[in-house]
Amino acid sequence: MSPIETVDLLVTGARQLVTLRGEGEPSPRAGRGMSELGIIRDGAFAAKDGRIVRVGSTEEVSRQVRLAPGGEAVDASGRVVTPGFVDAHTHAVFEGSRPQEFEARLQGSSYQEIAAQGGGIRSSVRAFRAATTEQLKETALERLDRMLELGSTTVEIKSGYGLSLDDELRALEVARELDGAHPVDVIPTFLGAHEIPEEFASRRDEYVALVAEEMVPEVSRRELALFCDVFCEEGVFTVEESERVLVSAKRHGLGLKIHAEEFTRSGGAALAARLGATSAEHLLEVNEDDIAAMREAGVVAVLLPGVSFSLGLSKYAPARTMIEMGLPVALATDCNPGSSMTESMQMIVTLACVEMRMTAAEALAASTSNAAFAVGLGMECGSLEAGKRADALVLNMEDYRELPYHYGVSNVQHVIKNGRLVVRSGLRVRS
Ligand SMILES: [Zn+2]
Repeated sequence: MSPIETVDLLVTGARQLVTLRGEGEPSPRAGRGMSELGIIRDGAFAAKDGRIVRVGSTEEVSRQVRLAPGGEAVDASGRVVTPGFVDAHTHAVFEGSRPQEFEARLQGSSYQEIAAQGGGIRSSVRAFRAATTEQLKETALERLDRMLELGSTTVEIKSGYGLSLDDELRALEVARELDGAHPVDVIPTFLGAHEIPEEFASRRDEYVALVAEEMVPEVSRRELALFCDVFCEEGVFTVEESERVLVSAKRHGLGLKIHAEEFTRSGGAALAARLGATSAEHLLEVNEDDIAAMREAGVVAVLLPGVSFSLGLSKYAPARTMIEMGLPVALATDCNPGSSMTESMQMIVTLACVEMRMTAAEALAASTSNAAFAVGLGMECGSLEAGKRADALVLNMEDYRELPYHYGVSNVQHVIKNGRLVVRSGLRVRS
């Protein structure tokens, strides 16, 4: 018998403790594995110094640990406990909102038409450049509060509204400050190739060179990002331009991500496979060759159904084909002011089930464990296992399948981040 361990957090009585524990080599879940949630009935877990130390039935765990004086006891009786959501794709540092574009789209304008008229990403670039760093930080902190209250405990944030060396560095510095100032863990991604800025409209080669030869090395030198991403799409960056940026990023030690096959099949998914990207995102227009290539190369597909929903499109990424072909699927909000203005992973889980025919179990695995792999943190978070960060949600439900089913409200009762209760009864706890 191992000795009794003193812990500082003890969660007991979960009707379903959804662990998503893995077997064998840690890797993203694929195929049938996406449905294996590792549920423990009447489950419990204990944490110490922010890490999970015991997971099991309430009876087992209670026998193995003792709660330190002043420690937190969470009674999850009758509820579902899951890992915290990992939101693997957001643009959460931005200024201004674009409701007029949302309305114009409902009246028939397309996303591309709006962009061509000076709206779209370029309008957010103007707002970003005009904002002070303090302002950017303040609005992003409010956004992170909403994300945390809605259950996201780790959030990837891309730059990409600065589009000059100084403004891109500023975005990534804000992301780094947010990571230090807020309980949510922030994963910074450099997305200087998000759009060609207006002042480079007639000199796109120069802008691609600036991103690849100046911005990437500087971002890497200052250690401001873990990943580099490119918006590879007709009318934005070509495959050749995307490759130039990503090859430079790889040489400078950054992980790779790519916005691929969102509106047209332009070859971004194949590029992700060829360069060994960690993830490829959007992927509405992929075909089976792309899916097989990504699977063989170990690329995680990050699907963003909030974009199709918010743009009023009838087309969604082919999640079922991906799962049947064994490609690991992750989900994210794509929180951004143009095409998906939401902080809610719960909403994304509902959309994934209703619009892409994922099961509740697949959507949950895609929002936690697989999403953690999509941001390079598969060994750190995304499941409730000894050694991982104690990031968990107590959901106001008796069966995890209520998560997609009960939509348009928050089902999150409590949020635990690094072993501390940071949201209680749906509201942020300020310490
Ligand atoms: Zn995006």
